[in-house]
Amino acid sequence: MSAGYAITTYKIQLNYKHLDWFKKTQSLFDAVLAFYYELLERQPEALSLTNQNLLRHLELQTIKQRDGTQPETPLPFERIPLYFRRAAINATISMYRSYVGKLKVWQEGTIKSGKPSPPKRLHMSMLYYKGMYKDFDEKSILLKLYTGKTWAWVKHRYTGRPFPKDAELMSPTIVIKKKKVMLHIPVKEIVKDSRTAKERVQQNEKFVAVALTGSDSLAVCTTIEADGRATAPYFIKGGKELAHRRKLLLGYTKRGSAGKDTPRLMTHTVGNAALSVPQEHRPNKKYYDKITRLTDHYAHEVSRKIVDYALKQGAKLIVLPELKESFNQAKKPYLGKTPYDFIGRRIVRYVQYKAWQKGLVAMTSKPYYASTRCYHCNAPIAKHNTEYQNPSANCYGGKNFVCKEGHQGSTALNSARNLGKGFYERFYAGAA
Ligand SMILES: [Zn+2]
Repeated sequence: MSAGYAITTYKIQLNYKHLDWFKKTQSLFDAVLAFYYELLERQPEALSLTNQNLLRHLELQTIKQRDGTQPETPLPFERIPLYFRRAAINATISMYRSYVGKLKVWQEGTIKSGKPSPPKRLHMSMLYYKGMYKDFDEKSILLKLYTGKTWAWVKHRYTGRPFPKDAELMSPTIVIKKKKVMLHIPVKEIVKDSRTAKERVQQNEKFVAVALTGSDSLAVCTTIEADGRATAPYFIKGGKELAHRRKLLLGYTKRGSAGKDTPRLMTHTVGNAALSVPQEHRPNKKYYDKITRLTDHYAHEVSRKIVDYALKQGAKLIVLPELKESFNQAKKPYLGKTPYDFIGRRIVRYVQYKAWQKGLVAMTSKPYYASTRCYHCNAPIAKHNTEYQNPSANCYGGKNFVCKEGHQGSTALNSARNLGKGFYERFYAGAA
């Protein structure tokens, strides 16, 4: 029996006498953070280090060594406790990594938003490692605070729901909001026996699994119940209509490009192949813009329906397939011919966004063998489109499937169920 653990953040409110001490400690923390941020900004190549080595690297430049070696850029504040400093450095590292990460995504052009700007305010709530707090019991906690002159241990009583027994309390973060001072404490509970894990799943954790296809059903949803059963299949159609409207528009692009004013070199990228040419360089830009808008419209429609379905089912989580790199897909011509190729990625993105707006979570999961195995018995499946067609493993876009045990049905629904099953086995059943 494997053990797992769950982490929940508990929030407790502190009773204090000196709000100004909290504020002074926080502004000192932000000042240390800002100092390290500016130092790190001057050496972005250091980001290739692991967090732990990067921390060490920054300390070596700023802190006097045991053997008396003076640092190049001394930290301009005196008597900063070791763990206070380390928390500030770690905050710096995560802030800078996050900014650089966003910048990189933007430079790669995978998202269309504006250029990410550096953090406007170098501030982060203080994480208090051991050494900054002690005597943490059911009623109170001692916190090391900066009074403006010196550091002092100050006892604080608190209110909030009691912590579970046998749970491990991790380092608290002090969150100051106007006159409220809260402690956010991640609480780690080991899930030892299967009963506990199953109970947790049964309480609230049904979820929706989605398959995206190139056929008329652009998306197929199923709800995975707490016991792992796949229920309530839901088909979202529109693929045929979209393919038809798209084909008409692609037809215009071919006709239009035959005009004598069009440079010859550009005329041979037409149809699907033309979609790999950056939009602004394509001939007949207006038709391609129309295709983009049309695709977008369907992607919004379908993603809204997926989120509505999840809400109706009372699920809090939507699991979508993790799509392969678009580059690899482009190399497979049969994939390029289906709506899946050009709309799937967009649907995934919109679902994540719309789910977030409705307070749900959407995530992607690798669809291992989801479309090649039978959900019921795990045997390889053969696909076909009509009853007159011989089923084969390679029938691409085959709407129906059959396995050697005689199970049959919708290929897309089978994929959705498999995606859900894989996710369930990894994250739910695995905890038991
Ligand atoms: Zn089967």
